[in-house]
Amino acid sequence: MNIASSDVIIVGGGVIGCFLGYLLSKRGKQVLIIEQSSRLASGASGAAAGMLAADSEHFGHPELMNLATLSRNSFAQLARELRELSNVDIEFNGQGFITPIRDQEEAYDLLQHFPLKGNDTWWTSTKLAEMEPFLNSGLHGAIFRREETQIIPQKLTQALGYSAQKQGAELCLNTKVMSLYLEGGHVKGVHTSRGTFEAGQVVLASGWQLCELLEQQGLNLPLIPVKGEIVEVRTERPLLHHTLYSESVYMVPKSTNRLWLGATSMPGDRSPGVRAMGIRHLIESAEYWLPAVGQSTFERAWCGHRPKSPDGLPYIGEWAGIEGLYVAAGHYRNGVLLSSITATILANILEGIHNPDLNLKPFRPDRFQYHYEGAL
Ligand SMILES: Cc1cc2nc3c(=O)[nH]c(=O)nc-3n(C[C@H](O)[C@H](O)[C@H](O)COP(=O)(O)OP(=O)(O)OC[C@H]3O[C@@H](n4cnc5c(N)ncnc54)[C@H](O)[C@@H]3O)c2cc1C
Repeated sequence: MNIASSDVIIVGGGVIGCFLGYLLSKRGKQVLIIEQSSRLASGASGAAAGMLAADSEHFGHPELMNLATLSRNSFAQLARELRELSNVDIEFNGQGFITPIRDQEEAYDLLQHFPLKGNDTWWTSTKLAEMEPFLNSGLHGAIFRREETQIIPQKLTQALGYSAQKQGAELCLNTKVMSLYLEGGHVKGVHTSRGTFEAGQVVLASGWQLCELLEQQGLNLPLIPVKGEIVEVRTERPLLHHTLYSESVYMVPKSTNRLWLGATSMPGDRSPGVRAMGIRHLIESAEYWLPAVGQSTFERAWCGHRPKSPDGLPYIGEWAGIEGLYVAAGHYRNGVLLSSITATILANILEGIHNPDLNLKPFRPDRFQYHYEGAL
């Protein structure tokens, strides 16, 4: 394949870009994924905890909750598919999540906002102690959300990228997209640090840095980075069987007795390093629920930048006014969870297939762009 010209160019080798590349190449499209770094998942996707928390997260819009549920429910099958194609195990974990509760008042409050759904159950303090014997013994009980799942997001992104490649997609690493190649209201391709690449359709999936690319064209797609830190500890034996999801901290059990403790939240912070106080905060918060965490071995800590729009909703769809230009970005705290449905929606749009059962209006990429016509 000559990579100077493709059907679709995807800017960004994060989970959103790679998922779309995977689906489009599966449908026979010639796809080129361009990533500025030397590896896939070098941005937020490589920093995420991998929770697919459709029932536990607050989404700010009922349609986004609907998309989240559809997306989460597709991952068990996807994990099998990717393993066959790429030989990468994304470590799908279907044990469910618990949200532990301190007292009756807290239980009442939480259930008001996040009522029990289909297979969710209430665990009394006795049941909780039986299921998770290392937790704080003074807890009132827990909500058990059976449908929630989790994976390793770095592996997911890489598995999607390698599988896309197997299906014929091109990955172009170490290549930065410098500007869009536009002509007469149409997108023609992109100008990169390695020259110009042409395609009739360009999808921008470059995380929080996307706004900088569009600003050059006078296009307004506001995004801010929300920095988050995670700590990994290792324990002698498994201390937690289910992912623990609370307001103050979450704890995600991974293979070989590793626990990921996350995450801090610093809007507007673009700095790259992990703060000592971030690590202390996460470990102290985790210790309240699981006292033995303090005795575990510190393994590593990392951070990433969640891409957040002003209304907290992602941008998914075509950019009105520039034919062939599409956006898939701004998934904030739930880009891994929403990657599957976002890629499906966008792959359909690119092929001219409607998504009749979904209301995609709240996610229009140009919803903050009032003067785009004048800007072109
Ligand atoms: C600490 C933390 C914990 C999280 N936990 C979860 C979780 O448990 N579950 C969940 O669903 N979500 C979680 N998230 C959110 C999730 O990580 C993001 O929403 C998601 O990864 C966004 O994916 P993306 O592909 O849009 O962006 P990114 O992963 O940032 O990918 C964008 C890519 O574009 C590349 N790029 C940028 N500009 C250019 C350019 N000009 N040219 C070429 N390439 C470019 C970047 O290098 C990057 O690789 C978490 C995030 C953080 C930080």
